[in-house]
Amino acid sequence: MLPSTDLIACPHCDTLHSNASLPEGAKAYCVRCGVVLKQERSTAIVSVLALAMSSFFLMVAAISFPFLNVSVAGQSNSTSVIGAVMAFSETFTLPLAAAVAGFIIFLPLMRLGAIIFAVTPLATGSTPTRAAQSAFGLAEALRPWSMAEIFIVGVAVALVKVAGLATIAFGPAFWAFTLLVVLTAWQDTLICRYSIWRALDTQQV
Ligand SMILES: [Zn+2]
Repeated sequence: MLPSTDLIACPHCDTLHSNASLPEGAKAYCVRCGVVLKQERSTAIVSVLALAMSSFFLMVAAISFPFLNVSVAGQSNSTSVIGAVMAFSETFTLPLAAAVAGFIIFLPLMRLGAIIFAVTPLATGSTPTRAAQSAFGLAEALRPWSMAEIFIVGVAVALVKVAGLATIAFGPAFWAFTLLVVLTAWQDTLICRYSIWRALDTQQV
């Protein structure tokens, strides 16, 4: 039997692989589901940081710009993501407004902020603090709760229903949100959590 440090489990399907060392720039993928198992450390850190920063700016754009413009019978109405959330802000639906704002805006932003906070010291070569480990742990814990993609799917379903009744134009925020969803899905398969945890662990003082 191999010692547990010589084994690496796939973060997606738990298949165990032997933990061989990788040449510069190489990546190891899960034989069963194709998720990245392990990546050379500096490449892993740079890709996590680049993707988290791009997602963060896309998120800010998705919140600030107009999301949709609906026109019917000569009247048009434009809304942003915040406007969509505020539409539920009446007394009865206030908890719904809070949940939508939390799941599609605050938790994803908090998660991206935590990733940037945790990984920046690794990228600049300085020693990560215990807080960086906690921040990356928090980002991992928040992953299932960041639901921007579910929001986009919901919007798409609603638009199919509304399309026959009104003319719909997509604002810049819609495209920013869509790109964000693609980037998040890509990030989740591309990012090598093993390398980031190793880097956060071994550089700890
Ligand atoms: Zn797998």
